Amino acid sequence: MAHWPALAPLLARAGRLLLIEALRAWAEAKRGSPDVADEAACARWCEARLGSLTTPSQRRVFNLTGTVLHTNLGRALLAEEAIEAAVAAMRSPTTLEYDLDGGGRGERDDHIAPWLCRLTGAEAATAVNNNAGAVLLALNALADGREVIVSRGELIEIGGAFRIPDIMARAGCRLVEVGTTNRTHFKDYAAAIGPNTAAIMKVHPSNYAIAGFTKSVSAAELVPLARERGLPVIEDLGSGTLVDLETWGLPHEPTAREAIEAGIDVVTFSGDKLLGGPQAGLLVGRKSFIERIAKNPMKRALRLDKVRLAALEATLRLYADPERLALRLPTIRSLTRPAAEIRAQAERLLPLLAKALGGGWQTSIQPVRGQIGSGALPVDLLPSFALAVRGHELDKLADLFRRLPIPVIGRIEDDTLLFDLRTLDDEAAFVAQLGKLDVVVG
Ligand SMILES: *Cc1c(COP(=O)(O)O)cnc(C)c1O
Repeated sequence: MAHWPALAPLLARAGRLLLIEALRAWAEAKRGSPDVADEAACARWCEARLGSLTTPSQRRVFNLTGTVLHTNLGRALLAEEAIEAAVAAMRSPTTLEYDLDGGGRGERDDHIAPWLCRLTGAEAATAVNNNAGAVLLALNALADGREVIVSRGELIEIGGAFRIPDIMARAGCRLVEVGTTNRTHFKDYAAAIGPNTAAIMKVHPSNYAIAGFTKSVSAAELVPLARERGLPVIEDLGSGTLVDLETWGLPHEPTAREAIEAGIDVVTFSGDKLLGGPQAGLLVGRKSFIERIAKNPMKRALRLDKVRLAALEATLRLYADPERLALRLPTIRSLTRPAAEIRAQAERLLPLLAKALGGGWQTSIQPVRGQIGSGALPVDLLPSFALAVRGHELDKLADLFRRLPIPVIGRIEDDTLLFDLRTLDDEAAFVAQLGKLDVVVG
């Protein structure tokens, strides 16, 4: 059957492997029926079956959820400079581990470590696959077989099965919990230090906040205690950031530099959260500890490839010019978009949306509050504006938006389908496909 002329275009598009898979299914479905030899019917059937297999599984979408750094939608969008650097690295051999001066072996960390040191004030830096990997590696390198002290208020779980107690166990460390969920004191840490203690760890509570009768011990208080007892302090900053978000009127999120200045020995944070780069886990801190970390065999298992290193280096370079970050880095650009601009966009789009939906739906512009996402600033919400749709069968409508050529992902809240426009940059593409909505009447 594969040689049937009617199948030739499909063979060219889908490839032999997929076509044969579809033909086997056709023969199975039509077994014993004379239809099995109907060439045109077979071509139509195979075409329909292969439709979804010839489109990529990972597709571009519009993230109108209101969460800027949406983990399920791929977190940070890269700056053009980072995209270009990544593409160039993909196309050609590079100096990934090659020293052009000496003509010998180089270090892959050398492409990013000087930038991380410059931007955080740290003595040394390295990078791995993601922040979960960075925490695992730091713990294993500095405390394998020994105890690490953590406050009970910081024993976090973030999405995707990252739980501090589990990571500790996998890193080969024994977790020593101190304090209570809401209050941990200096004396709790001091009393827990024993002959088998290898480190004290602080974890930024990324995705929750403890409010009310609370107490935690700051790095500034902990560091002198750790120094006195000869112990390193490790801090998992979570998102972390390289610039003070208050520059743009956003709420404060701890910066890696602040942690280094407070005397933290090893600071870890993500590459694809507020930093706005590719997925990566960054480790900055004291030279002796970073060297031990970089020599650990797990570093090799968690290392970054040339493509992400190229994107990361290009992203870090943008931080040399903080004034222009909001123009060049999509994450900062989205976070700092003025509400008035978003509102004006909503006013432009509302009539187009109403027209595409036809009667039966109530559309309006609704003030909403979005989130940074990925654990940064869990309680601070970004004032924004959304296109709002009310009607019956909202789930069905949401589904239709997800079936558009570029699927549109919103959120349903209080019986309203909301499309938060803070992160809508390609307005033309959004408008262009509105006409393809196959609308059910609400
Ligand atoms: C996000 C986060 C992590 C995990 O970072 P990834 O880069 O996703 O691996 C670890 N710790 C904290 C506190 C976080 O917020």
